[in-house]
Amino acid sequence: MKYAKALTHRPVPLAIIGGGAAGLFAAAIASSRGLGCLVLERKARVGSKLLMTANGRCNFTKDIPPERMLADIGEPVASFVGPAIRSCPPSMIAGGFKARGLGIRRMPDGRLFPASGKAADVVHVFGDQLRDSTVPLLTNCPVTGVQPVKNGFILATRHFTLWARNVLVATGGASFPKTGSVGDGQEFARRMGHRVVPLRAGLVGCETDDRAVRAMAGARFENGASAALVIDGREVFRARGEVEIEQWGVSGAAVYNCTRHAVRQGIEAFDLRIETPEGNWTVKRPTMRPLKEAIVTMGGVSLAEVNPETMESRIVPGLYFAGEVLDVDGPTGGYNITIAFATANLAVRNCMQRSGPDGRSDTFMV
Ligand SMILES: Cc1cc2nc3c(=O)[nH]c(=O)nc-3n(C[C@H](O)[C@H](O)[C@H](O)COP(=O)(O)OP(=O)(O)OC[C@H]3O[C@@H](n4cnc5c(N)ncnc54)[C@H](O)[C@@H]3O)c2cc1C
Repeated sequence: MKYAKALTHRPVPLAIIGGGAAGLFAAAIASSRGLGCLVLERKARVGSKLLMTANGRCNFTKDIPPERMLADIGEPVASFVGPAIRSCPPSMIAGGFKARGLGIRRMPDGRLFPASGKAADVVHVFGDQLRDSTVPLLTNCPVTGVQPVKNGFILATRHFTLWARNVLVATGGASFPKTGSVGDGQEFARRMGHRVVPLRAGLVGCETDDRAVRAMAGARFENGASAALVIDGREVFRARGEVEIEQWGVSGAAVYNCTRHAVRQGIEAFDLRIETPEGNWTVKRPTMRPLKEAIVTMGGVSLAEVNPETMESRIVPGLYFAGEVLDVDGPTGGYNITIAFATANLAVRNCMQRSGPDGRSDTFMV
């Protein structure tokens, strides 16, 4: 790594790479607990993906007990994110937003949205907190390398290097790359000795040549709709929820949850049985849409080498991961943002314990 001019004379207690769901939550927790931190974000603004969630409405969690949430997430992810979600359950996430003035709308199934219906209000909560606690936010600032050194890490950017005691990699998955998540964090992890599970599309639509299906493009079934994975005529998984017909095939929450299940189970060929109050039909051997269109990235930093009680690397002390950069994913319905928030919270809490009094923000100067 070529070192440009250093930005800090003393190490930043915590450098957070990525200003998405996980990175912003981490910065909010760190600043509220007095841990000196800064956020480095590739794009010109933070929270680009959060802004597009749930069609711009942001379903940020689901008001259900943690154990039910973990059961819905399923194994092997549930065991890994269990400690994080139990220590930062949906009730705590909702309470935190409420305390910071966000009005919340609860859907009958428990999904929580900002009452305004605007994802921007969720991002503003973070923006306000970081402004009030003067957390440095470096936008237009892609990190290009992370190098462990004797006393922490050197982070490289195009214009300067930064010395950090601890690093949280919160760079997201690799879907919707225009939001800034392009797989950098997985590459940093790989270079530091971590195994990375190949990245694949999870929660994605299904494409079909079936003209009868495509002819219904624009149709949307919400109540009473479901989709099922069928293998050799036998139904192996069914998901209830919205089904939408697109020019290229089928999408919507029920279809997305079917594709996630198929990928997790290694099912490559299947039929999709769609049931709606207006009729049932089977989509024969559909193909999944590409990773860049997926709601969530499956694969990422292998869970075997990250401590689920702390989110710290088992290979490089002081290196933490949170959110979709890890090989974690959940179904639709607020689970993925909850995972990002909860893993970020756990990482920061443990980073604070590790930093001790040295981590206090008053020792942190840029
Ligand atoms: C269309 C869509 C709708 C969705 N709807 C929902 C929903 O309603 N509810 C839900 O729970 N989940 C939803 N999700 C999933 C959810 O948005 C993600 O799981 C969540 O944002 C992951 O958070 P993250 O912080 O890990 O990654 P991200 O939110 O993607 O943030 C990663 C950040 O890191 C930055 N970054 C990347 N590389 C670098 C680098 N080298 N240097 C500096 N910065 C970098 C990126 O620019 C980005 O800002 C949706 C996803 C999509 C695509």
